[in-house]
Amino acid sequence: MRVYLDNSATTKLDENVLKEMMPYFTEEYGNALSVYSLGQNARKAIEDARIKVAKAINADPSEIYFTSGGTESNITAIRGLAYSYRRRGNHIITSKTESPVVLETCEQLEKEGFEVTYLDVDEKGFINLEKLEDSITDKTILITIMYANNETGVIEQIANIGAIARENGIFFHTDSSYAIGNVKIDVKREMIDSLSISAHKFYGPKGIGALYVRKGLKFKKFQVGGHQERNKRAGTENVPAIVGLGKSIELVYEDFEKQIQKTIELRDYFFSEVQKRIKNVYINGDLKRRLPGNVNFSFYDVEAEDVILNLDMKDICVSNGNVCISGSLEPSHVLLAMQVPYDIAKGTVRFSIGKYNTKEEIDYTINTLVEIIEELRKIEKEEKNVCRFAEQCGGNCSGCHK
Ligand SMILES: *Cc1c(COP(=O)(O)O)cnc(C)c1O
Repeated sequence: MRVYLDNSATTKLDENVLKEMMPYFTEEYGNALSVYSLGQNARKAIEDARIKVAKAINADPSEIYFTSGGTESNITAIRGLAYSYRRRGNHIITSKTESPVVLETCEQLEKEGFEVTYLDVDEKGFINLEKLEDSITDKTILITIMYANNETGVIEQIANIGAIARENGIFFHTDSSYAIGNVKIDVKREMIDSLSISAHKFYGPKGIGALYVRKGLKFKKFQVGGHQERNKRAGTENVPAIVGLGKSIELVYEDFEKQIQKTIELRDYFFSEVQKRIKNVYINGDLKRRLPGNVNFSFYDVEAEDVILNLDMKDICVSNGNVCISGSLEPSHVLLAMQVPYDIAKGTVRFSIGKYNTKEEIDYTINTLVEIIEELRKIEKEEKNVCRFAEQCGGNCSGCHK
C-alpha cells in the first residue's frame, strides 16, 4: 500500500479531470487562434475553462490569464505590477515566510533598484498588521503576502491586508497557489488585486495555472511574440491542460464542505493520536487558522531526513515542507522566521492530507511513525552516550563533555 501524504507538494490527477482533457489531445487538437471550426472548438474550451476559474474566486473571466502555473503567475504579477507602477514608487512589502518564488523575485527586484521590506512573523506564523501599516511609505506600490503558507498551512488575515492595501492605494498580490482548492477565496470580498493559481495543487494537471489581475490594473508582460491571452502571454495555449484546470477547479468546489470536513476529521485524529503516542513533539503553526489538510510536526531528537527516508521504506510519502530545499539539511526559512529553535526545526516533517486519503492510511502512518521515531531516538541516544573523552574518564562517563 502506498500512502501519499504530500498533497501540498502536488496531488494525484482526478480521473474525471483526465477524462475531460483526453479529447483535446487527439480529437479537438486545433490551435485556438485558427478561424476554422476545429480551432474555434479549442477557443471555446479555453473560454469555458476561464469562466470556471473566474467563478471559483468570484472574478470576471476577463480578469483571468492562463499561465504555466503558480511560479509564473507570481513572477508575472509581482514584476508586472512593480514595473507598470514604478513611476509611483519603488517600495514593495512582503514577508519572510513567502515561498521561494516570491522571495527570489523580490530579491531580484532589489538588485534592479526596488526596495523591499520583509516582514517578520510571530511564533504562530502570522505577520503583524500594525507592523504592515507602519512599514508603508509614500513610495509603497505593492504588498505581496501569501494566502496560506505551504509549510505550515497557516492562513493569513487576507481581507484585512486587502483593506489596508486599498485604503493606502497600494496593490495587493497574494500567492494563493497552495490555498486555492483548500479554502474558499473571494477576490472582491478580500480586496485582492492579483493572485496565483496552480492546478496540480487541487487534482489538476501540472504545468498549468492562472493569474487573476483585477480589471483596470496594468501589468507589464514578459512573454512576447504572440497575441494569446489578450496579448499578455505569448505562446500557443495548452488546451488540454487549460481544460483540466477548469474541470479541476470546478470539481474541487463542487462538494467542498463535505470534502473539507472529512479532511479536518482525519487531520484532527492524526494530531491527537501522534500527541498521545509520541513524546516531545511540537505542532508548528497556529492551530485554528490553518488549511484543513496540513500537519506540520517537529519531533525532538531526530533529523527530518531520517524520518522521511524511513517512512519512504514503508511506502509513505511525506516531506520536510520545503520542496525546493528538501535534500539539503538547511533548516526551513519559515520555521526559523517563526523562532523555532534550530535544534527543533531540523526534526520537522510535513504531512499533507488530501481527498484520496483514508482512515486506514492514517492509522498505518501513525503506527509506522511511532516505531520509526522510537528507533531513531534510541540510535540518537546511543550516539550521544559515546563521549570523546571516554578513555580519560575510565568509562564512567556522566555526559560532562557531550
Ligand atoms: C506550488 C506552489 C507554487 C508553485 O506553483 P507551480 O504551479 O508548481 O509553479 C508557488 N507557491 C506556493 C505557495 C505553492 O504551494
